[in-house]
Amino acid sequence: MPKPSIKSLSEDELSEHFAAQGQPAYRARQVLDWLYQKRVDAFEAMTDLPAALRAGLAEEFSFVRPEVVRVLGSKDTTHKFLFRLADGSLIESVLIPASPALYGQTSDRRTACVSTQVGCAYGCKFCASGLEGFSRNLDASEIVDQLLAIERESGDKIDNIVFMGMGEPLANLTNLLRAIRIINAPWGLEIGARHITISTSGLAPQIRKLAHEPTQFRLAISFHGATDDVRDQIMPVNRKYNLKTLLEACDFYVAQKKRLMFEYILIAGVNDRDEQARKLAQHARRLSAKVNLIPYNTVEGLEWTRPPRHRQENFLHILREHGVVATLRREKGHDIDAACGQLRLQTARAERELGVR
Ligand code: SAH
Ligand code: SF4
Repeated sequence: MPKPSIKSLSEDELSEHFAAQGQPAYRARQVLDWLYQKRVDAFEAMTDLPAALRAGLAEEFSFVRPEVVRVLGSKDTTHKFLFRLADGSLIESVLIPASPALYGQTSDRRTACVSTQVGCAYGCKFCASGLEGFSRNLDASEIVDQLLAIERESGDKIDNIVFMGMGEPLANLTNLLRAIRIINAPWGLEIGARHITISTSGLAPQIRKLAHEPTQFRLAISFHGATDDVRDQIMPVNRKYNLKTLLEACDFYVAQKKRLMFEYILIAGVNDRDEQARKLAQHARRLSAKVNLIPYNTVEGLEWTRPPRHRQENFLHILREHGVVATLRREKGHDIDAACGQLRLQTARAERELGVR
């Protein structure tokens, strides 16, 4: 059994751990302060803990940080990070600077886009993350570590988090919620729940589960098709949870006084017809959901492209005409392949070709 990571524990769990050893209650806070305020990266650096206690922690818990393999900067200062985890797996995260109304937040904010899995099992036809299949879930510490590493590397404080990197967050729900607790906690990264957005390709049962979560994070549904025939064509998940099942789960979610939004990537000739816009407007109105339109980012090796600008604007116009609050992303990071999974794919391929791994 590998040791659990110290950065996967909540304050309560750490307190229990110390209580069981007859240690004073303030030990948990001391450790958390070293982890998330002072941000040391070894137990030995926790100098106000007795040496024996530090040694004991090192015996029971692992304390690693991801290796930064590559950092790509884009002209508009979006930064993309490629990390190697302790087992050699590659994951990526993106830091996106101020971007007005990207996910409904105010504009002077830095958004981190983080991964929740190595690869993705859902295999959407347009997505780089699914191209090489699924390897494994990230544990909570590997999710939190992406944020710590981005802040350390960039010197910036992250204000917003979107779980839109590699992987399907709701397929790793336990670790995701554990990480969100750490990210949200006053003893942790102290990022408000309203500044945390989870994105899902449409795992209906998990959407229903989230309806009962007390934390007020945001939920985005990756719609990408307003009818089953379009969704079936590009998102295999739709064969498991079709539009009716997905919409009913969303109804249930919204009935718990929660709000959700739709993401809709525009792919030329696939989901950009006027009729799709009209049907999408119906679904959005049913759920009072705001729609974010995202022009498709081309992925090396895939044939899909974004529609021309006037078709994007036309799609937006139809949604608005039907009373839907919608935005069209003039997205950043296009010049560094900011769409999820692309950097990892390139690096993994290059390493294989070079025989590095
Ligand atoms: N698995 C989750 C979250 C990660 S993907 C989900 O699918 O929602 C985050 C978002 O990026 C999704 O809306 C996804 O459809 C979108 N996306 C994937 N590849 C893209 C590409 N090449 N261009 C633009 N958006 C892309
Ligand atoms: Fe997985 Fe999301 Fe990519 Fe689909 S879009 S393959 S669910 S990461």
